[in-house]
Amino acid sequence: VDRLQTHFELRQWGFLRIGSVQAVDNVSFSLDSGEAATIVGESGCGKSSLARTLLGLHRPTGGDVRFAGSSLTNLQGKTLKAYRAKVGYVQQDPYGALPPYMDIRRILEEPLIIHGISGKEERQRRIKEALKEVGLEPPHEVWRKFPHQLSGGQQQRVVIARALILRPQMIIADEPVSMLDASVRVEILELLRHVQLAHGIALLYITHDLSTVRHYAHRAMVMYAGRIIEQAPVDSLLERPLHPYTGALLAALSDPDPANARRQRRVPKGEPPSLVSPPEGCRFHPRCSQVMIGRCEYFAPKEFQPRIGHRVACWLRG
Ligand code: SF4
Ligand code: MG
Repeated sequence: VDRLQTHFELRQWGFLRIGSVQAVDNVSFSLDSGEAATIVGESGCGKSSLARTLLGLHRPTGGDVRFAGSSLTNLQGKTLKAYRAKVGYVQQDPYGALPPYMDIRRILEEPLIIHGISGKEERQRRIKEALKEVGLEPPHEVWRKFPHQLSGGQQQRVVIARALILRPQMIIADEPVSMLDASVRVEILELLRHVQLAHGIALLYITHDLSTVRHYAHRAMVMYAGRIIEQAPVDSLLERPLHPYTGALLAALSDPDPANARRQRRVPKGEPPSLVSPPEGCRFHPRCSQVMIGRCEYFAPKEFQPRIGHRVACWLRG
């Protein structure tokens, strides 16, 4: 992902341009095959827009995404379809992701038909295999059901089965457990980890919950107001965060009591900024306790690499 930008124009009455939402702004990172990486950020920071751009659902307005050597920007028609077969998508809301009028079998068969897997028997074999893989057994009973007959956790297993059914090289999971009951969250995260390792699939796990990162990914990226502000191996990020925002997120995590004065002091004040007119300079500066007046509010920080593999966009580290 190279200096990727996804901005959405805001138009009144369909033609009068009144601004743009800078959902993804100058984002760069790479993901190796079989690697698990996380993107962490508060809601509204552009995580889902980034995911949808990577899936080819939004057109980037700048920069580029290359997948196995070919540029996503040039894909259309058949080549875009082939790309989509290689990238599975697990959404936040499993019920919303599954058509309520189709039984599970049809839901899983559809991508196989769309992508030209011929032979009913072969398709059935693959559907059974996928259902077993995600722990929905026996397949011939599960596949007769409709989404509303399954629990939230089971629905999310179906979504994962659908993401797997075309044997993708990468899975993008956007907040896959945030709408599920707390009791099944760990199971679903474990399942994603299992399929990632078992098939050597690259995984981009997107979450607002920093506490789920450690056991899950090799590398984490922190997103703030449309930009990646810090990226590092997970241990390095969690043990020695370099960006004040990451530090504040971690401080909030380690103290579960919201009334605690220490937490009150260290969590960044205020709300994440609007992406329509984000702050000039460092986008975090209105909330930063270490802001350098005269610098941070005018100049966007460059990315520095104070430790190998640990990159941070903050003037304190330059
Ligand atoms: Fe804070 Fe300045 Fe660093 Fe931004 S660049 S995080 S405002 S110190
Ligand atoms: Mg989202």
